[in-house]
Amino acid sequence: MARKKLIAGNWKMNGLLADGVELAKGVAAEVKAMGKPECEFLVCPPFTLLTSVKKALRGAKVALGAQDAHFNTKGAHTGDISPEMLKDVGCQYVILGHSERRADHGESSELVNKKAVAAHQAGLKTVICIGETLAERDSGKTIDVCSKQIMGSVPDDSTAADTVIAYEPVWAIGTGKTPTANDVEEVHAAVRKVLAKKLGKGNANKMRILYGGSVKPGNAKEFLSLPDVDGALIGGASLKVADFMAIAKNSGC
Ligand code: PEP
Repeated sequence: MARKKLIAGNWKMNGLLADGVELAKGVAAEVKAMGKPECEFLVCPPFTLLTSVKKALRGAKVALGAQDAHFNTKGAHTGDISPEMLKDVGCQYVILGHSERRADHGESSELVNKKAVAAHQAGLKTVICIGETLAERDSGKTIDVCSKQIMGSVPDDSTAADTVIAYEPVWAIGTGKTPTANDVEEVHAAVRKVLAKKLGKGNANKMRILYGGSVKPGNAKEFLSLPDVDGALIGGASLKVADFMAIAKNSGC
């Protein structure tokens, strides 16, 4: 089953206007220079940069995404942004349930599910994040934790067309530490089995499962050549055009 790889950058809370525009222009120029890349590209800047980054990406095959959304369309939710608002400024994707949001904002899988339902209704594709803590890995609970997060966070009517899963071990994010390739493949294959149970085999076989956690140009090939790894969600290395593009190129894009 051929799944087009997705190379996604999560800029997190980084970048003032000039930095974001420069970074986006750099990525756009490199992707244009690739002609017809084998992969899809996505960048997810902070809310404040979405409109400017959208302009900077003009003409390049790079999708725009946000890093969170509320589950309501509008109303009294100070500081929140709705999926419709993201769609309105040109987003195609939204990351939901990143471990930093689960930890910093107490987001449960139930809440992530509600957000995903709303995002899909607004016509956004979701990148739903899952992953175990170091304590959970050390106690042998990785597959169990990830399975529960999938069952809880992914809406029952999700399809491969509107949903991407990102497996990101919490202890590998921003730390320079990574699981072994075998560990990653084991989790991805298990996640695909859970998706098959939840959404049917057809969707599970077509759904992209990204790996995230200290992906760098030097380790990208090792992870992205695994059979069940369909791309990467990249934090730190997505803030440098050269690193982000080297990850893509080293992954066969
Ligand atoms: C992330 O935040 O999604 C991530 C994987 O970060 P990093 O690549 O910096 O580990």
